[in-house]
Amino acid sequence: MKRKLQVVKFGGTSVGDASCIARSAQIVFDIARESSVVAVVSAMSGVTNRLIEAANRAGSGDRGAGSTLIGALRGQHSATLNALVAREPLRTAVSHKLEEILAEGQRLFDGTALLRELTPRTLDVVSGLGERLSAQLFAAAVSELGVRTDAIEATELIVTDAFHGGAEPRMDLTRERSRARLGPLLKQGHVPVVTGFLGATQEGIPTTLGRGGSDYSATILGAALEADEIIIWTDVDGVLTADPRLVPDVRTIPEISYREAAELAYFGAKVLHPKTLRAVVPAGIPVWIRNSFAPERPGTKITAHGRSMGGGVKALTAVCDVALISVGGPGIVGVPDVVGRTFSTTAEMRADVLLISQSSSQNDICFIVSSAHAQLTVEALRREFAQDLAHEVVEHISVDPNIAIVAVVGENMRGTPGIAGRTFNALGRENVNVIAIAQGSSESNISFVVEEKSMKQALLAAHREFSLGTPAPT
Ligand code: ADP
Ligand code: ASP
Ligand code: MG
Repeated sequence: MKRKLQVVKFGGTSVGDASCIARSAQIVFDIARESSVVAVVSAMSGVTNRLIEAANRAGSGDRGAGSTLIGALRGQHSATLNALVAREPLRTAVSHKLEEILAEGQRLFDGTALLRELTPRTLDVVSGLGERLSAQLFAAAVSELGVRTDAIEATELIVTDAFHGGAEPRMDLTRERSRARLGPLLKQGHVPVVTGFLGATQEGIPTTLGRGGSDYSATILGAALEADEIIIWTDVDGVLTADPRLVPDVRTIPEISYREAAELAYFGAKVLHPKTLRAVVPAGIPVWIRNSFAPERPGTKITAHGRSMGGGVKALTAVCDVALISVGGPGIVGVPDVVGRTFSTTAEMRADVLLISQSSSQNDICFIVSSAHAQLTVEALRREFAQDLAHEVVEHISVDPNIAIVAVVGENMRGTPGIAGRTFNALGRENVNVIAIAQGSSESNISFVVEEKSMKQALLAAHREFSLGTPAPT
């Protein structure tokens, strides 16, 4: 009988230090007894941020930032290696691999500082160094347990377009390469340990899938290999009813649908990269979110249909690193195709539009994009509407960064009357001012815009209103 195949992904905190890596490696070992396993790993927590920060400094001519960071990463990774691996030949072999990666990093920082230019292409190579280092450590830790492993760079497997910083996979080519490279290893009972976050164009230029993208790497590989299950191991018990850093009494959701989880991820629930579920929808592969620090807990299962929890609302989410852009003024009624031109401009900038609201008189279109895209989008809009602004037909193109979107999510909301009313009553009681509202036609989410300073209060009010929290002890 064909063995089951599981793709398991470990996030930054799950590989944050030697003891976390050892715990995660043990999880892989236990699964490998019964199934074939492909492991996907993130960089050790904080490493990607540090790489990006040093790259930006190098880009402005700082020659020391890169060397300092490379020195620190050498110390951190070799200390972790020493704690994880006792066998001398393995330790030396892995240490050489780490050195090769670090030396490449050093050359990239030197070149960037010399040129005083950080291109998106270089930034992708630099920001992926963390995964390449951690994959070496993780493979060594699994092999220390007596399982044959291979550390593999996803640049060999995941073929993407050339959009640096947020590349999209080309599934046909990815399927071919992943099967050709990993199939024989799996047949021999090896556990491939693959770098998350990374891909490469068909010509072999490295790319990244966007921040937090290792979740997406796991589902891309899971789909390419037709895995039976994908398990995303992280530092919380599963998908929770709200962000635990903002709402104290959250609960773990046992089962949730692709659509609900995608809505949560899209509106900021950090536990999943927004694109994660795209890859598994066609084949209906279940995705689990589980806690690598408490592997005995069941976690959340994400499936095509989810399971209803009654009541309609399943979870809340909020996103605050977004900006509200408005294009308008009374004069824009006469400007041809304002809506079309506005959104072709956002599409050209690849700025994901999270919410749109337009008044019926067409005096004002407002929409929300991530803060990272706001400035470039506004500049592009000002270019697009330059003539109209000059003639004061378009009066303003403005941006407000001090806002947040809060989303109320649940597929069962469809056909449950009164959810919008209850949400806004609860906010009204707390004096939270709502700036804009949108409800998708799927009715699996109601999202609204509030001032950033009211975000937490809005979440707490809605969480209480829909009794999403843990029941109070009686
Ligand atoms: P990893 O490094 O494993 O990828 P992340 O930090 O990217 O982990 O995502 C996990 C974190 O997401 C949790 O620690 C939690 O603080 C945050 N989070 C935000 N919203 C939610 C939610 N609804 N459910 C679970 N976790 C959430
Ligand atoms: N290390 C990458 C990041 O921090 C990818 C990931 O962790 O998923 O964005
Ligand atoms: Mg993550």
